[in-house]
Amino acid sequence: MKRPTILVLGAGYGGLSTVVNLQKSIGADDANIVLINKNEYHYESTWLHEAAAGTLTPEQVRYDVKDVINEGKVQFVQAEVTAIDIPGKVVTTNVGTHTYDYLVIGLGFEGETFGITGLDKYALSIANVKAARQIREHIEYQFATWSLEEVKDDSRLTIVVGGAGFTGIEFLGELGNRVPELCEEFDVPKEKVRVICVEAAPMVLPGFDPELVTYAVRQLEAKGIEFSIGTPVVEATPEGVNIKKGEDEFEFIKAGTVVWAAGVRGNRLIEETGIENMRARVKVDKDLRAPGHSDVFIVGDCALMINEETNRPYPPTAQIAMQQGDMIANNILALMKGEPTSKFVPDLKGSIASLGDDDAIGVAFGKKMFGKKASFMKKMVDNRALFLIGGVGLTLKKGKFNLLK
Ligand code: FAD
Repeated sequence: MKRPTILVLGAGYGGLSTVVNLQKSIGADDANIVLINKNEYHYESTWLHEAAAGTLTPEQVRYDVKDVINEGKVQFVQAEVTAIDIPGKVVTTNVGTHTYDYLVIGLGFEGETFGITGLDKYALSIANVKAARQIREHIEYQFATWSLEEVKDDSRLTIVVGGAGFTGIEFLGELGNRVPELCEEFDVPKEKVRVICVEAAPMVLPGFDPELVTYAVRQLEAKGIEFSIGTPVVEATPEGVNIKKGEDEFEFIKAGTVVWAAGVRGNRLIEETGIENMRARVKVDKDLRAPGHSDVFIVGDCALMINEETNRPYPPTAQIAMQQGDMIANNILALMKGEPTSKFVPDLKGSIASLGDDDAIGVAFGKKMFGKKASFMKKMVDNRALFLIGGVGLTLKKGKFNLLK
């Protein structure tokens, strides 16, 4: 019998979790497992705010895909997927084409600008490790230029962060620690720097416990971060952003750096597949297959799942992506054996948002926590993700061990 080809697109949390679980349970002769990823490395998307602020280097947030796959069982192809032809069962990349029997799409997230004028051109986005490096270098460039220029333009030292959701708040937490370092490095007086968070919604961190939100805002404000809440960004220009403060009231914030952290969507390649989607996310069947496509699984941020208790989509998280990868590996095995697939039910263990390297808020295993305890737990969660994909070796190599900072 012909060996089936399992083609996995994307070596993010979802794709890698699928592959490492497949390689554990499939014999080398049972299937061809092919993993395609744009880079030769995986990056920890959940650490990108640190790379963007410059509190971690790009090197620290990534590792080689080959460090975690068994090359005796998995063929790794470094290539950029450019098209997915579902009826023809062919995936095209910049270096060639691949056919498949089972396809797993795990191409991750992209920033969503909701059509706001100028954001795609003038705002930076924490979308991947290269984009995070660009933000770090852009901020450093602004500080370096300010310290050199004769007629000083203080707006170079203003950083606007669009969005007070999870990513925005985590990035602000890192900036709160990083700005004093930058001031020292570039001889910039701290009072010249402004970091402003602009949020359209009437609250910070929607969905989080109000007591924890109050704590987070207080801690960030103590580090000099300003909040402008309920004030949507209506336009970005090369000079900054225009925000709406009232019915006919607008304010222009002149800023050297604008980082948009207010929304994500799935990978836009999904929109060209013909599979029904919402903002490039596919509302998957219970066993994580694309509706009407028995050989196509969707994992991670490209998948959309409704929480039946709240009737709202589950937020896109690494936690869910990894659990889905595990389930997809099991379901592909089941299909290969002619057995029924299983229903995916997320096992939500909580959510912790960092406020810099030394502080955090969140709920884990049903317990509310903040401060050093939450920060410790956050690092344990980060290390656990490494452990689940690459075992003890990867955890020791890339893990966070400044646990009690
Ligand atoms: P990704 O991890 O984004 O991986 C997608 C992969 O596909 C990447 O390797 C990419 O290079 C590759 N790829 C993309 N396009 C192509 C292409 N055309 N060809 C080939 N390869 C391609 N979640 C949590 O659970 N906890 C957190 O604390 C948390 N914090 C976060 C902090 C930040 C700053 C951000 C941005 C996100 C955070 N998240 C968190 C969300 C989490 O990172 C995502 O939900 C998760 O990364 C989704 O995993 P994924 O496998 O779908 O995609």
